[in-house]
Amino acid sequence: TGGSTAARFAAESGLSVCLIDSKDRKEIGNKICGDAVGSEIFDFLKIKHPRDDELSCKIKGAKLYSPNLKKCIDLTDPKQAGYIVNRIEFGQRLLNEALDTGVELFIDNTMALDLLYSQNTVSGVKVKLGNGEKVDLRSKILIDASGFYSPLRKNVKSTLIEKEILKEDSILCYREIIKFSPQDLNITNPDYISIILDQDKAPGGYIWYFPKNQSSLNIGIGTFMNLKGKVKDLYRQNVFNEFIKTSKYEIISSGG
Ligand SMILES: Cc1cc2nc3c(=O)[nH]c(=O)nc-3n(C[C@H](O)[C@H](O)[C@H](O)COP(=O)(O)OP(=O)(O)OC[C@H]3O[C@@H](n4cnc5c(N)ncnc54)[C@H](O)[C@@H]3O)c2cc1C
Repeated sequence: TGGSTAARFAAESGLSVCLIDSKDRKEIGNKICGDAVGSEIFDFLKIKHPRDDELSCKIKGAKLYSPNLKKCIDLTDPKQAGYIVNRIEFGQRLLNEALDTGVELFIDNTMALDLLYSQNTVSGVKVKLGNGEKVDLRSKILIDASGFYSPLRKNVKSTLIEKEILKEDSILCYREIIKFSPQDLNITNPDYISIILDQDKAPGGYIWYFPKNQSSLNIGIGTFMNLKGKVKDLYRQNVFNEFIKTSKYEIISSGG
């Protein structure tokens, strides 16, 4: 997402751009996510709003619930309005727009391994190509948009960039996209994303309930990192069993 967008704007500004990704081209954009995005960012970046197969549904705002679901803060603000996207179609669109804008070289199935330095300045990146060969790519500017697990950040020689993200600044997540018939299950507040703050059910995080359309939901949980191994059970007990009150459903996607 960030990488494709940065590549697009760099190419639009006349730079000679090489974009790499460890995934296969067809898989770029496929990510475990809540899939909610505010509309404001599209105007800010002056890029097309999601539509057609990228768009799952439009949302008016967010509702923030107390543990017993009795108190709710309604965050309805035109600026909080937005979209639930179909993540892979959305990611593919951003990628294709970057490539159409004139990215000079795009290499998929290629893993960034480490930063290259010359005279104490980043001068490129060492990568492993799809065929296993390791090569050095030299550049004047390097943008690392490889996300949370970035191997590059760990070796950066700068006091301004955190090498490790602290456990207390991270959360562990698990989510599923569930499909069902509207006759079997009614979606609560279909125009809103809902977030439930309950420290017993989701210690250190929250539960989310995001409608995708009349017949599917993206539901998940975030918790403290030290609950590794337990997050799926917490999800099953406190999210799935709470919200999916039908035996007729299909799990379209799951992971964390
Ligand atoms: C469970 C969950 C729910 C979320 N829900 C929401 C939400 O509802 N709304 C929202 O706005 N945000 C949400 N987020 C956060 C959002 O997904 C991230 O902020 C966003 O995807 C970050 O984008 P990115 O481009 O920085 O990184 P990513 O989307 O992680 O993309 C990184 C890219 O780099 C590639 N890559 C990784 N390592 C390498 C490497 N070594 N070499 C080459 N390529 C590499 C990957 O293949 C990928 O294509 C959620 C996150 C999670 C985990």
